[in-house]
Amino acid sequence: MKIAVIGAGAMGSLFGAYLAKAGAAVTVVDVWPEHVAAIRGQGLVLSEAAGDEVVRLDAALGTGGMEPVDLVILFVKSAATQAAATDAAALLRPGGRVLTLQNGLGNAEVIAEIVGAERVLAGTTAQGATLLGPGRVRHGGRGETHIGRLSGEVDAFCHEVAALLTNAGLPTVVEPDVRSLIWGKLIINTGINALTALLRLRNGQLAELAETRQLLALAVEEAVQVARAAGVRLPYENPLDKVLAVAVATGQNQSSMLQDVLRGSPTEIAVINGAIVREGERLGVATPVNRTLTLLVQALEKNLFPS
Ligand code: NAD
Repeated sequence: MKIAVIGAGAMGSLFGAYLAKAGAAVTVVDVWPEHVAAIRGQGLVLSEAAGDEVVRLDAALGTGGMEPVDLVILFVKSAATQAAATDAAALLRPGGRVLTLQNGLGNAEVIAEIVGAERVLAGTTAQGATLLGPGRVRHGGRGETHIGRLSGEVDAFCHEVAALLTNAGLPTVVEPDVRSLIWGKLIINTGINALTALLRLRNGQLAELAETRQLLALAVEEAVQVARAAGVRLPYENPLDKVLAVAVATGQNQSSMLQDVLRGSPTEIAVINGAIVREGERLGVATPVNRTLTLLVQALEKNLFPS
């Protein structure tokens, strides 16, 4: 299977490196010239707990001139999903598919509008990564990846992709209910990301302070009401316990939204708490806490008073 990873940042570099180490025909694609040049020149430096490793990896600056591929793994941040999906559509051979493991709600639907819903695989991953600089990525947390089809029954292609990732050292499970997966992770991100970004806290601190536990509980409860109204089956029994458990388990982590705010980069707020607000409006569920969190992060993104 020929693979292109579009968006070779933290996660795209990690997945690309693991696939390349397993001998897969993979090219990572990015729009960041220094990063692509570093990977092409020195290889990708993959930092693991056990030490650094240099991984030889094909890298391209944009998809222009590339051969058609069977699978695109799309790992841009949500603001670039449409552009990346347009490139993916041009790159896929007939019958090829796009896999998104991006966070938030709506990425898979944006991709589906461009390539067709039946060609979209979506899911979540508990793998974590941080970009350290051009050509350098740190593998953070490890965990399972879950994938399924956005539309239609899971099929042989889906199982083939799961086997490919699993054999490459990225354990992957096929899940028939992809909405459950996406909403399950969305609710966790809704509870953790905006609050850590606004208050500049590590994930674990949210569970320690009475005030932040209360704010987290309010945001999660609204999101759960919206999920119920949307008819989503969540993949866990007690959402609040689950979100707090994830905050504790990833206690030392800076959430991606906090990292974005500290770097002055755009965040994914629109597809996380913002998506709860939009879905709430559509379904007649009030979401004042998530609306407030969304507006606060959007104001922070304007970066008027950089520290
Ligand atoms: P990142 O910012 O490190 O990487 C995104 C990359 O996409 C950047 O290198 C950027 O230059 C590139 N890019 C932007 N526009 C592009 C385009 N049109 N074509 C090709 N490349 C383009 O982001 P990340 O942390 O790797 O996150 C990617 C997605 O994965 C997000 O949705 C995030 O929420 C999700 N995610 C991240 C983690 C994590 O630990 N980092 C874990 C799970 C899920």
